[in-house]
Amino acid sequence: MIEEKHGKGSCFCGTVRYTFTFTGLSSSVCHCDMCRALHGSDYTTWVTVSEDAFSLVNGEESITSYQVSDHTMSHFCSLCGTKVYSVDSRYCNVGILRGTIETEIDELPRRQWFWDKKVSWLNSLQNTKKFTGETAEPVDGMT
Ligand SMILES: [Zn+2]
Ligand SMILES: [Zn+2]
Repeated sequence: MIEEKHGKGSCFCGTVRYTFTFTGLSSSVCHCDMCRALHGSDYTTWVTVSEDAFSLVNGEESITSYQVSDHTMSHFCSLCGTKVYSVDSRYCNVGILRGTIETEIDELPRRQWFWDKKVSWLNSLQNTKKFTGETAEPVDGMT
């Protein structure tokens, strides 16, 4: 039998921990209003796997779940507030917040949902000064 590829991740405080297999794995970015408000971020990068490919391994008792829509339940760590994953009952899949994944994943985002809703300045980020850490010299020599 071929060993199936596994990934893992956790919330910021490390209480909520999960593993997943790469079965049906895909990655996408979403610019919708709901993602923006729920995650306090300008867009969300998802890694999506089938529901049976995802398992919680720790911290289930610390998860608070919030019904976001008829078909979407969002799950976050009630100790540190990290949004960890959402379950969409329409597709029986789990959307993992990519920032919580500790395993290197080759899969690049292939789709951007709600492009019409993206923040207007998104493309201008290419032209900003870039630093190593918070205080180092700019990496690209811009002043
Ligand atoms: Zn936590
Ligand atoms: Zn969204």
